[in-house]
Amino acid sequence: MARKYRKLNTSKDLTRLMTRYYATSKLVGKLRPLAWVTSGAPVEILIGMGIATVYPENYGALLGAQRAAVPLAQVAEERGFSPDLCSYARAHLGSLLAPGDAPQGGLPRPDLLVACNNICGTVIKWYQAVAQELNVPLFLLDAPYQHEAGLPGHAGLPEHAGLPEHAEQYVAAQLEDLIAWLAHHTGRRLNDKKFHQALALSNEAVTLWREIRELCQARPSPLNAPDLFLTMAPIVVLRGTKDAVGFYRKLKDEVEERVARGEGAIVEERHRLLWDNIAIWYRLFRLFSLFTDAGACFVVDTYTNAWSVSVDTTEPILGLARTYSTVYINQSLQARAELMSDLVERFGVDGVVMHSNRSCKPYSLGQYEVLEQVSARTGVPGLVLEADMCDTRLYAEEPTKNRIQAFLDLLEQR
Ligand code: SF4
Repeated sequence: MARKYRKLNTSKDLTRLMTRYYATSKLVGKLRPLAWVTSGAPVEILIGMGIATVYPENYGALLGAQRAAVPLAQVAEERGFSPDLCSYARAHLGSLLAPGDAPQGGLPRPDLLVACNNICGTVIKWYQAVAQELNVPLFLLDAPYQHEAGLPGHAGLPEHAGLPEHAEQYVAAQLEDLIAWLAHHTGRRLNDKKFHQALALSNEAVTLWREIRELCQARPSPLNAPDLFLTMAPIVVLRGTKDAVGFYRKLKDEVEERVARGEGAIVEERHRLLWDNIAIWYRLFRLFSLFTDAGACFVVDTYTNAWSVSVDTTEPILGLARTYSTVYINQSLQARAELMSDLVERFGVDGVVMHSNRSCKPYSLGQYEVLEQVSARTGVPGLVLEADMCDTRLYAEEPTKNRIQAFLDLLEQR
């Protein structure tokens, strides 16, 4: 049978880049201070202070994709961590407790921990457990949940979009505390030149990433969600570096060439879909092939969209406070429904598929309400799939397939 999915040439560069990143992290950690940070941490500050960073969430995704998450999660569960906890947290904690069973022997040991609760409250307890286990200092950055604010930097959203001044000041003051705390624990100062360079590189990568995603408005779409889920890794772990910029320049060239040739990510695009929530890592291509085979391409998603907002560098600390406080899942359901409706309209989406992810409560709670609002505004139908991003024990193959088939039949009839 002819292949219905076009592989990106840039995927080879991605594999090389990420392999090098994990290999050098072990080495770099021996030469300068190393921090474990959450995906929404203001990493530009750490780069400006010469502190290396590693992302346990990205490692969690890797464990999920390699199907190594469950045995490690079980190690954490046996130690008393609840199976209801996020599977990134459980798998990572398992890798800490049983490094011999973890791919690459687990992550290099950190000197510091920096967690920001702009993505969830889980990271607070997760990082506290790590701090206790390894006896390393932890900084918790509190980014208050935005009940009112819209998502700055996103097209199609109301004028009031933005962070209230009191929240902005509150987070900015903590960023100043973070700089002092890092200096106290590492003896390093914030180097202004390095900090501004990191901000500029971060913004350049974010802009390229946003432009790449926007190119998927083309018909057929040059990328499908699995492409986005894989190529998002550098925007998470290499934000603020030349490596990320170099990779996204190359990826953008390839995507532009596809658009110019009228070549889609899948061979015959018949339906254009939106994906909501984190990928089901252990089923990435198998699950999406059910859609691909029916000519359904995920032209946009809300997850990889989260790293699309630049930092205002005219007032860097305030700019960081604004950008990192207003990530997608730190926003009200109303703001999420507005963003999703905007994406549906701009990308010509015919249907929405939501992953109700047992692990990620802040992402998954309220999805039915968001879907109702998006369907009412745009008229597109939706499907909710219940699973987990890493924990294969929460995935039921046959019911999932049946629900997808029924949804695809519905799209055919419209
Ligand atoms: S609960 Fe969700 S946001 Fe928090 S660490 Fe897990 S996957 Fe990430």
